[in-house]
Amino acid sequence: MALGTEIEKIYWGIPAAPGVAFGTIFLDVEDDLYVPNYAIEEGAVEGEISRFDQALLKTWQEISQIRQQVADWLGEEEAQIFDAHLVVLEDPALIDETIEEVENSRRNVEHAFLTISQKYIAAFQKIDDEFIKERLNDIKDVSRRILHNLTGEAPGSLGTIQERRIVVAHDLTPSKAAAVPHRYLQGFVTEAGSQTSHVVIMAKAAGVPAVVGVHGLLKTLQNGDEVILDGFEGVLIVHPRKETLFRYGEEKKLREVREQEFLKLSRGPAVTRDGHQIEVMANIEGNNEIPRVRETGAEGIGLYRTEYLFLKGGSFPTEEEQFVAYKEAVEALNPAPVILRTYDLGGDKVLQRRDLLDPEDNPFLGCRAIRFSLLYPEIFKDQLSAMLRASAYGNLRIMFPMVSGIEELEIANRLLRVVKGKLTASQVEFDPEVKVGIMIEVPSAAHICDHLADHCDFFSIGTNDLMQYLLAVDRGNENVAHLYEPGHPALLRVLRQVVEQCMRINHPVSICGEMAGDPVFLALLIGLGLRSVSVSPNSVPSIKYLIRQLSVGESKALAADALKMTDPVRIQKMMREFSNARLEGPEVLYEGARLRRELGGGRDGVLE
Ligand code: PEP
Ligand code: MG
Repeated sequence: MALGTEIEKIYWGIPAAPGVAFGTIFLDVEDDLYVPNYAIEEGAVEGEISRFDQALLKTWQEISQIRQQVADWLGEEEAQIFDAHLVVLEDPALIDETIEEVENSRRNVEHAFLTISQKYIAAFQKIDDEFIKERLNDIKDVSRRILHNLTGEAPGSLGTIQERRIVVAHDLTPSKAAAVPHRYLQGFVTEAGSQTSHVVIMAKAAGVPAVVGVHGLLKTLQNGDEVILDGFEGVLIVHPRKETLFRYGEEKKLREVREQEFLKLSRGPAVTRDGHQIEVMANIEGNNEIPRVRETGAEGIGLYRTEYLFLKGGSFPTEEEQFVAYKEAVEALNPAPVILRTYDLGGDKVLQRRDLLDPEDNPFLGCRAIRFSLLYPEIFKDQLSAMLRASAYGNLRIMFPMVSGIEELEIANRLLRVVKGKLTASQVEFDPEVKVGIMIEVPSAAHICDHLADHCDFFSIGTNDLMQYLLAVDRGNENVAHLYEPGHPALLRVLRQVVEQCMRINHPVSICGEMAGDPVFLALLIGLGLRSVSVSPNSVPSIKYLIRQLSVGESKALAADALKMTDPVRIQKMMREFSNARLEGPEVLYEGARLRRELGGGRDGVLE
């Protein structure tokens, strides 16, 4: 990377996909498409409609080709994002109204299509709803492509990238992101977007870093600016100084060497220095992650977020489709356990089936997860039936998300019994003893976990939600992100309470929130009594390594000290120092964290 004389500038956003990239940016500036507008003769109407048909067909072929490329590159599940685009292409409202517009206005079809598509875009823009926003992007994306095909002008510039680049954009639709030749893609930075946007899911699957929610980039950056993109800390450093580059370079080398070592050592059980075995499982969102799970030495799947089967496809998979997916997973992992969580839809996991749920004022407190499943027992029973059938092929367990009280769990169990009865009557094989667990992620469930334990076989603590509900901090809101603190004393107390109750009644408990995969908090969790964690597949090797450096004795002492403290920042600092000392060496990718501290909690700036 050539070093210029410009001043180093630091931009903060939301860390969305992990990794660090050094490189040159490619600015995705919206191209100004010229759309002609002219009158046509009555006899020319047929010809315009035929041009429209051809443009639709060409667009369909292009999107299908992109879909295929993405399927080859990232897998079938990622590719299903483009099914939503194909649906837009077949939308009768858009197509019929365009034809009517040509017939009535007697203007050329580009103009007619622009008029109709803008009418829909304007109507959608007025609606403040996450689902509509996603659909709006689909419509914009497809409409643009159709207009390009009608006018014959080449579509966006991302497909022209010929060298390795970090793509900076206001927002990226999946098809735009997929247009970047993937061997040249080093990472994404967007002004808009959230951690759950499609482009982030694609970045993670492609293994490139991504940072979203970085304000004001397009106004200030130039094509060709040199940057460091830190997807761990959510930072973009423009015109990095020699020292910054050097530090990042050193840390990157260290991380790579260390990760290779962790991976080599990752097979076999993770046993602490004083002989306690800690189970390390993996969290996944689709079967495409199974090879990675096996490679990293995870001892099973502790959380399979099955809602992604729905979120990526746009409609509910049939019972048969689910059965095939679940069976493949349990067979691949057998005899290791696979914990399938029933749909956790609602909240930030926006439902694409609008007919099922009206927009809610507080979706995180609304009809989410088990509440949604109980509202739609037929959808729930399909899923349970697919899971039960797959249980005949391996070590499958079922888990219900977001349980807040006994009644919900009892109803869910009752529905499970009904499905079991049906399968038995039809002589379909399943494991009659299949274990059923619940997530502990609502404070009420944490408080009554001893009662809930009477109705299920195991717990998995979901700290991502437990934290947001306990601390009243929306987990996706960047304005309150500083309050979303895993070191908060209230969270530590609740964790201790749940684990102690479970020990007392001998009820299995694991933890699958992001906190479990953060080396900073591992010793604390072990010290609190947890003996099973489930983390992202990429974190399995480092977590196993760290477990082997710890002793339960010292972890207990650490947890006891932490429980006496009141300041989350100091608690976190103590944990960090403890884990750094055991990971031997400086904190990996410390630079972004240092910058964050020195600039004061993540404000954009220039470091003197
Ligand atoms: C959690 O809440 O901690 C959890 C693992 O579930 P999700 O992140 O899918 O809500
Ligand atoms: Mg959760």
